[in-house]
Amino acid sequence: MDLEKKFREDIKKIKAYVYVLSLAGWDSNTEAPRNSFRRRGEMLGVLSKELFALQTNPNTINTVNKLYDQIDMLDDHLQREVRKAKKDIDKIVNIPEEEYLEYRRLINDSQLVWEDAKKNDDYPSFKENLAKIVEFNKKFALYYNKDANPYDTLLDDYEEGMTMKEYDMFFNALKTDLVPFVKKVLDAKKRDYSKFINNNYDVKKQEQFCDYLVDVFNFNRESGLMKKSVHPFTWNTSPEDVRFTTKYLENYVFSSIFAAIHELGHAIYEQQISTKYDDTLLSGGTSMGMHESQSRFYENIIGRSYEFWDAHLPKFKELYPEQTQGITLSDMYRAVNQVEASLIRIEADELTYPLHIMVRYDIERMLINDEITVDELPSIWNDKMEEYLGIRPENDSEGVLQDVHWSDGMIGYFPTYALGTAYSAQIYHAMRKELILPKLIKENQIDKINEWLKEKLHKYGSSKTPKELLVMITGEEFNPKYYIEYLKDKYSKIFLSRS
Ligand SMILES: [Zn+2]
Repeated sequence: MDLEKKFREDIKKIKAYVYVLSLAGWDSNTEAPRNSFRRRGEMLGVLSKELFALQTNPNTINTVNKLYDQIDMLDDHLQREVRKAKKDIDKIVNIPEEEYLEYRRLINDSQLVWEDAKKNDDYPSFKENLAKIVEFNKKFALYYNKDANPYDTLLDDYEEGMTMKEYDMFFNALKTDLVPFVKKVLDAKKRDYSKFINNNYDVKKQEQFCDYLVDVFNFNRESGLMKKSVHPFTWNTSPEDVRFTTKYLENYVFSSIFAAIHELGHAIYEQQISTKYDDTLLSGGTSMGMHESQSRFYENIIGRSYEFWDAHLPKFKELYPEQTQGITLSDMYRAVNQVEASLIRIEADELTYPLHIMVRYDIERMLINDEITVDELPSIWNDKMEEYLGIRPENDSEGVLQDVHWSDGMIGYFPTYALGTAYSAQIYHAMRKELILPKLIKENQIDKINEWLKEKLHKYGSSKTPKELLVMITGEEFNPKYYIEYLKDKYSKIFLSRS
């Protein structure tokens, strides 16, 4: 059979399995009743096995390899698809099956071990698992490419084309330029808005406000929906079916608002991708970093702007007249942009957030390069928190044990969070040359911003690499200076000016 036709058929079949499995995943995370999980696990186990067999089927692999041999003759899109498929295959086939299965078991066990360790503040009970996870990741990276530094290979897994060299440049810029600035802001006198922020906010009304936001951001309700879940996330099978969740806390109203806006950023990116990629390997956002750039753009650059609250504070006040009594627009702007040195990454504000990521990057880099052992992790973690943020965790649950990523084998993922946020500032800089953002946000014309992002970025899906896209949009390669300038400009105006 014609090679390309066979390739297309394989992809369609694989996508059909992924479609059903991920629909079940959406259901598990939103509405499935407790007692459904046992049978669901069994059924999904059967389908997952089938899927894995399909992906590793010698015929499927053979088709990809044959296409790869004639890569120069293929058109651009097919070239990129085949390269992606080949990379995925090479990542798996070079690992001896026994080792792969052992690793999967290790990751499975490590979830519970980590959860217990975190609950009981017992790092020593987790560190052996962590040491093994690090070793496996290193070994697998070397199977894939024995000539590359394993951390470079791992970084590329989460953000195509990124290496230590670029991340070092990025984080060193943050260290020299941002850390001293953050210290200044942390030391500045600030008004305390905690009473307002942590007041009681009826959850039903929070739901109404988030529902209102869905329209403010021009999310297409015919091709998606919003629900609630414990951990907010975005889910999609195609641009025509994009769903997301937020999380409601009665005494922390900003949780639902900013989680919703963050996920709306991910969701609008997915909705605006061209449907022509649906049956190809070029569907979906191009990378973790680029995805996070969109969620952070909507959450921070739009959602935490003065103009945004100029437009939407009235609606918020209408829902909560008592809680917002005496709260002016300037109060609201300051309240949504509070800065505080805190121990927990996922609760960190826009300004201190990248410093949390720096701690993790430094540690991963040293671990994979054998410069430190897992025994030293808690003390190195605490020292770095003190160095960057001026605070020291009192226990490991609030320190090295706080995130799920490492127990799940995700090493190399963290830096994309900070990178994505930095991309967003660089994209914002380019956008401001063409759009008058404050006006559009204030006049509730976010659809114009969506349109700009669609044409410059979203519609391409993964048909371009993040690096290609960034150059296309901004005219230059990744440059952290835009991010640092954006943060300094915004936060010195809020906290360091004398007015
Ligand atoms: Zn996100």
